[in-house]
Amino acid sequence: MDSFLLESDFLFENRKLQMKKNDKCPCGSGTKFNDCCGGILAGHCKAKTAEELMRSRYVAYVAKNVDYLVRTTHPNAREEGLADSIRKWMRQVEWLKLHVVATTEDRVEFVAEYITSTAPGRHHECSVFQCLEGEWFYLGEETEGD
Ligand SMILES: [Zn+2]
Repeated sequence: MDSFLLESDFLFENRKLQMKKNDKCPCGSGTKFNDCCGGILAGHCKAKTAEELMRSRYVAYVAKNVDYLVRTTHPNAREEGLADSIRKWMRQVEWLKLHVVATTEDRVEFVAEYITSTAPGRHHECSVFQCLEGEWFYLGEETEGD
């Protein structure tokens, strides 16, 4: 829990996107939000694969769900100030579209399109995930030599 709430945090909370259960999921799967990442974000079910977790985390960025992003980060990768850095990034970019490029059991390569106040951009990442006792977690971005 944050011990303080800045005015900008208040505005930020109000910008949280309200997604409707019958809308198509923002992860681009083509499935209804409720049957896709919606249930995972709400805690009704767990991501069964690394890709499902990756997609639900993308939707959490879209929906500005910081808690979910912290919770699904691998305990070993939960650095101090993680929630704040996620929030900072969320304030700077608006996520538009996700493209999953390639998936293996524990890696997902994707391109996410976004727009900032000044220009559009693309975030290309190969994420590494780990399953701990049946639950998938985000470990981080793949680095050279992994
Ligand atoms: Zn989805």
